[in-house]
Amino acid sequence: MRSVAALFRLDTSDPDLARAQFRSFSRQLPLLYIILVFNALAVMADYFRPDQLLKTLMAPLFMCTAALVRAFWWWRQDGGKDLSDQEIARQIARTCSLSVVMTLTFELWSFWIYDLGDAYARGHLTFFLALTQVSTVFCLMTLRAAAMRVATVSTMAFVLYFLFADHGRMRVAAIVLIFVGIGMMVVTHRFNIDFSNLIRSQRDLRNRQAETEKLSEENRRIALTDALSGLPNRRELLARLQRLEERVVDRVDTLAIVFIDLDGFKDINDSHGHHVGDTLISSLSARLAGLCPEQALLARVGGDEFAILIEAPWATARARALAERIGEEIGLPVLVNRHVLQVGASIGIASNAEGPVGANELLRRADIAMYHVKMRKKGEIAVYDAAFDEGRKRRLAIEHEIGVGLTREEFEVFYQPVVNAQTGAIVSAEALVRWPRRPTGSLDPQEFIEIAEGTGQIHPLGLFVLERACRDLKPLGPLKVSVNVSPVQFRDPGFERQVAHVLEQTQFDPQRLQLEITEGYLLAQPERAIRVMERFKSMGMSIALDDFGTGFTSIHYLQSYGFSHIKIDKSLLAGLRPGSKASLLVTGTIYLASGLDMRVIAEGVETEQQANILRAAGCHKLQGFLFGRPMPIAEFRRVYENQAVHDRFRQSA
Ligand code: C2E
Ligand code: CA
Ligand code: CA
Repeated sequence: MRSVAALFRLDTSDPDLARAQFRSFSRQLPLLYIILVFNALAVMADYFRPDQLLKTLMAPLFMCTAALVRAFWWWRQDGGKDLSDQEIARQIARTCSLSVVMTLTFELWSFWIYDLGDAYARGHLTFFLALTQVSTVFCLMTLRAAAMRVATVSTMAFVLYFLFADHGRMRVAAIVLIFVGIGMMVVTHRFNIDFSNLIRSQRDLRNRQAETEKLSEENRRIALTDALSGLPNRRELLARLQRLEERVVDRVDTLAIVFIDLDGFKDINDSHGHHVGDTLISSLSARLAGLCPEQALLARVGGDEFAILIEAPWATARARALAERIGEEIGLPVLVNRHVLQVGASIGIASNAEGPVGANELLRRADIAMYHVKMRKKGEIAVYDAAFDEGRKRRLAIEHEIGVGLTREEFEVFYQPVVNAQTGAIVSAEALVRWPRRPTGSLDPQEFIEIAEGTGQIHPLGLFVLERACRDLKPLGPLKVSVNVSPVQFRDPGFERQVAHVLEQTQFDPQRLQLEITEGYLLAQPERAIRVMERFKSMGMSIALDDFGTGFTSIHYLQSYGFSHIKIDKSLLAGLRPGSKASLLVTGTIYLASGLDMRVIAEGVETEQQANILRAAGCHKLQGFLFGRPMPIAEFRRVYENQAVHDRFRQSA
């Protein structure tokens, strides 16, 4: 019973379905009204009687006018496109009641005038009436409640009237209409089930499609965005460049790329952890974004690399100005988790100022220019030059050769004597790497060491030197040995263990080993440097600060690290003459260092004059060509042992 009642209930709870119903029947309603009007006019023509104007003229004309007004109204609705969901629901409810009212009005009018006609007219009228009813139900088919109500109400009225009209002679027609009515209701019900299923599946399909679109849009966004900084990533930058390339930007100086690589970021990442590194990258990304002009595209193209694409006239000048601002502002401190962090930037610029350049080539050139800066002097800016490519090619070749050289044992270690400044006795030897068996000719250690530092090849190379030095000099006790340690090695958490392992393997006395480090690493990682140095010292080794005088460190600052020695760089010795500025500086340094319990080694001593000044200033040890060049172990051994004979000879004399 309840399910039968439900067939008549108006349900507009599903807005999509309601809208679809509205769209469907609103197109048919004008047609329905027109049919109604034609039927009314036909009946009117049959029944017109001048003495019954109200019944046969005014009433039908009034009905027709009302129907035409509604027809026009529905025609203008245009499927309800501009209506809100609530408005649609309201219109449907109205249609439901109005359709019943209209059908009943037409029917009641028909019953009212029925008796006025002759048998033919009555036959026509019954026919039109049944026809109107059927067409109404069919036009309202998509709106089940309305169709059902109209079908029921009008059939009931029809049946009730015609069971008794004309002394029951129309009973058969009434009974037939009952079946027609039931038939129409069944069809309406089935049709509605299909209709709402169709609408629902259409909606599901639409929703799924929208979801898929949203997902793929999201995927696209993720694929082209760097998750950490929220900036476009390398792929997005390349896509943008690709689009530019298709457009062929051949007007000169309209395109530039500023390529930025952070200096010192890796150290921060290593010492403070990735979490701090990530936060730092986020802050710096925001800082860079703030510096970029609006039309420029800023992308994060690598861990600590950014690129800015500038598309504007005078692109090179703009890029340079931007690079300079970035250079100034990137170094401002950032506070992360109570750490005050600071990084620099090496910046390369490439543009199409000299002529058309493919977009991808432009990025490559900016990268090369940045690389050039990185290798020469970090923190600067360079505009791409074709010569940079040569430099890069050469580096790549050397990188490869170092790898081969390591496996083929092409490297060698030379030893340079360090003498006691007062007695001239050899007190230690500095181990210096050499590459004598390099097939393409000898190379300055400074150059290949720097390359090996860039690739990480310094790790095996440095360990090779350490191990070789321990083995070579072990028999020459108590002579000490100084081994250079690159900041890259020092930064490696495994370094301590490796050193301990070498000492164990070679059975070399740690007391005889001195590590030389430069100050670059100290400034970047003060806390960690102190910790690592403490551990080396606790193992018995001593640590010397190499190249003192080339950086900015004050001696007082160095004291906190606990260096046992500082080595005055040879560049300071160049102008060493009595009374010269250099000699004041060197003398002051020696004085201060001694006061702070550090011993001073002067390196690069080439003349007796330099040696005399240094000795007079109280320098503890001297190293330089004056006392001996770096030499192979066999030669060094001879020199050292000869000297020992001399000493004994002197002592006994
Ligand atoms: P450094 O540690 O300052 O080494 C001293 C350099 O000065 C050596 O150059 C040495 O040959 C040179 N030298 C010594 N006495 C004199 C002199 O009287 N006059 C002049 N003009 N030069 C003198 P070398 O062997 O070419 O090494 C250059 C740099 O390469 C070293 O500078 C050091 O930084 C690096 N290096 C060399 N061997 C190694 C190594 O095994 N590991 C690491 N990490 N670096 C090394
Ligand atoms: Ca050194
Ligand atoms: Ca040095």
